[in-house]
Amino acid sequence: MNDATVNTVSGVGSAAMQMAHMATRELDTSHGVVLYLEGISVSFDGFKALNKLSLAIDAGELRCVIGPNGAGKTTMMDVITGRTRPDAGSAFFGQTIDLTKLTDAEIAHAGIGRKFQKPTIFEHHSVFENLELAMKADKRVRRTLFARLTAEDRDRIDAMLERVRLKDSARREAGLLSHGQKQWLEIGMLLMQEPRLLLLDEPVAGMSDEETERTAELFLSLAGSHSLVVVEHDMTFIEKIARKVTVLHEGSVLAEGPMDEVRNDPRVIEVYLGR
Ligand code: ADP
Ligand code: MG
Repeated sequence: MNDATVNTVSGVGSAAMQMAHMATRELDTSHGVVLYLEGISVSFDGFKALNKLSLAIDAGELRCVIGPNGAGKTTMMDVITGRTRPDAGSAFFGQTIDLTKLTDAEIAHAGIGRKFQKPTIFEHHSVFENLELAMKADKRVRRTLFARLTAEDRDRIDAMLERVRLKDSARREAGLLSHGQKQWLEIGMLLMQEPRLLLLDEPVAGMSDEETERTAELFLSLAGSHSLVVVEHDMTFIEKIARKVTVLHEGSVLAEGPMDEVRNDPRVIEVYLGR
């Protein structure tokens, strides 16, 4: 168990969450856009990790973000989730929620879920219990960890087990799952909180080919009902799920468009694909 997970679960009903209720507003995607980044710059000791980065993600879109190491992909996710404050630029969730004014907890509460590279699950609890804990940590629902599950709760957990292909492992201790299954469990835990936007940083790193294939199917099934931003180096995986692709380089967008267009862009080949 690590600090991040403990925080999620122990924060239920805290004063901080009350604040989150006041600070965040309803997500408004009436213009069809779930995330706007405009002119975002972030410097670390004078080095520009992000340099006037602008990006818009449509509601229900599955966006792939690629680019060489150090391009600023993770820093972009840090800005969206409130871990890093931009030096300049604006970041909006829907039309009205100014992400640069919210804490990371408030942003999570507003409906942005983030999957880090290393899975953060409760290794000594069963797969089912992990999903149960994630559901009960949902800040929108006031209940304690000891409240009994309703039939509806069980149905939700069962549906999620099915969705992330862990139905046969429901009673297994999470620590005994394969690497790929642990990643799916964490994605399931994020989904239990019904995020509107999911950020996934290198989700298939270390997965077997079979697991990577299943993950591609999962992401494709989530698009439409969720908005996803997927950062990955595995180009076979990207090609399977790609619609619109954004290429980051030196902190800004180098190219953006359909996979075929981006793949044949000489500038993209030069800085990334051609290596
Ligand atoms: P990517 O995820 O595309 O590989 P990152 O966003 O992790 O790139 O990093 C972009 C650049 O910013 C890199 O040069 C990295 O060394 C630098 N950087 C990232 N975070 C920090 C930090 N907290 N302090 C100093 N430099 C950082
Ligand atoms: Mg990174």
